[in-house]
Amino acid sequence: MNLIIIGTGLAGYTLAKEIRKLNQAINITMITDNDGAFYSKPNLSTALTKNKSSNDLIQNTAKEMEEKYKIKILTHTKVNSIDTEKSQINIEKKSFQYDSLVLAVGANPFRPPINGNASNDALSINSLNDYKVFRKKLQSAEKVAIIGPGLIGCEFANDLISQDKEVYVIGPDAYPMSGLLTKETGEYLQDELSKYKVNWHLNCLPKSINKLNDKYEILLNNNQSIFCDLIISAVGLRANLSLIKNTNINHDKAILVNEYLQTNISNIYAVGDCAQVNSHYLPFVAPILSGTKALAKTLNKDKTNVQYKASSIIVKTSNCPLVIAKPNTKHDTSTLTKTKNGLKLLYLNNEKKIIGFILMGDQVKEKQILTKFLPDFII
Ligand SMILES: Cc1cc2nc3c(=O)[nH]c(=O)nc-3n(C[C@H](O)[C@H](O)[C@H](O)COP(=O)(O)OP(=O)(O)OC[C@H]3O[C@@H](n4cnc5c(N)ncnc54)[C@H](O)[C@@H]3O)c2cc1C
Repeated sequence: MNLIIIGTGLAGYTLAKEIRKLNQAINITMITDNDGAFYSKPNLSTALTKNKSSNDLIQNTAKEMEEKYKIKILTHTKVNSIDTEKSQINIEKKSFQYDSLVLAVGANPFRPPINGNASNDALSINSLNDYKVFRKKLQSAEKVAIIGPGLIGCEFANDLISQDKEVYVIGPDAYPMSGLLTKETGEYLQDELSKYKVNWHLNCLPKSINKLNDKYEILLNNNQSIFCDLIISAVGLRANLSLIKNTNINHDKAILVNEYLQTNISNIYAVGDCAQVNSHYLPFVAPILSGTKALAKTLNKDKTNVQYKASSIIVKTSNCPLVIAKPNTKHDTSTLTKTKNGLKLLYLNNEKKIIGFILMGDQVKEKQILTKFLPDFII
């Protein structure tokens, strides 16, 4: 079989590894628009604390991955379009035929419109290349503003603390990580990070970013101004739909796939941050690991549906340890316990069974025990 995987992020490479565990004969070609270095993206928001440079984060080069997994990798090669009728992808002047195609094209940073002469200078950090640029600019920066108080914004704020930077976190939310935390737990995180040099500008939006004499001025819609040397934009990611735009492949907010990670075109699959399994969009590592395992079996002619194991997100805010297992179904009640150095919030269903939790500070030690109570996530 001739399999093409577009994308060499965690989803693309993990799929190739899983296939090789089952089958050495499938002809795998991977295509990426970058250098194809294999790295773990979650490490981007902890590298300062761990004293790692962008090069230290590379686990294998594309060449090493080719040899290790007996695959062919086309680097610095952008796929421009897919012809689903001819089972063909197009790259500049060349075309490649496939028997099966896997889209592992990830997600792109969302950039909200902001006025000013320097609004494009805000850095989004979603790849190793982005990270290289960030580290270079950070060398001469003392004050760093982060637009977006979500999970990624909070992790970068936490990481910058280790470098003794003055950090400003800006966003419209009333408390950090409002999509994953409750008011009490969000405020706890806010208070813990405020003990370091993290300044919060919540309930407000940036109106403009202007550069004056090497300094940025961010004007907020409450008329306050923040002056800083570097700006990170961490407003969220959107599934990369550019390749399927002019095709008959269905999408919702991401490429729509069924429980076999198959699109409406039978020989095209999608996995990772670009894919939405039925109604579930889960741009995290654990769903990629379960998804690629199942898809490898399906591509090896053993049709297997994806099943998500109960799992939690370890938020890498080391100055305020935090683990979240967001309920997959509607919760009935929640209970909050405050301890001397932490918080425990349990989500319960109408039978009073634990279906999710938020653990903070010294309470993260309960993660393993509580995870056992969580129901598996069946699609
Ligand atoms: C800073 C940060 C920290 C994170 N921390 C965590 C964490 O702690 N835990 C967790 O579970 N998740 C975390 N995540 C999310 C997790 O990293 C992602 O879910 C995962 O890495 C996505 O992998 P992917 O392969 O789907 O996408 P990507 O890594 O984005 O890979 C997509 C690939 O497709 C290529 N591509 C796209 N379009 C084309 C084209 N037209 N032609 C050729 N190539 C193309 C890209 O170049 C890239 O190689 C974090 C994310 C970030 C940004």
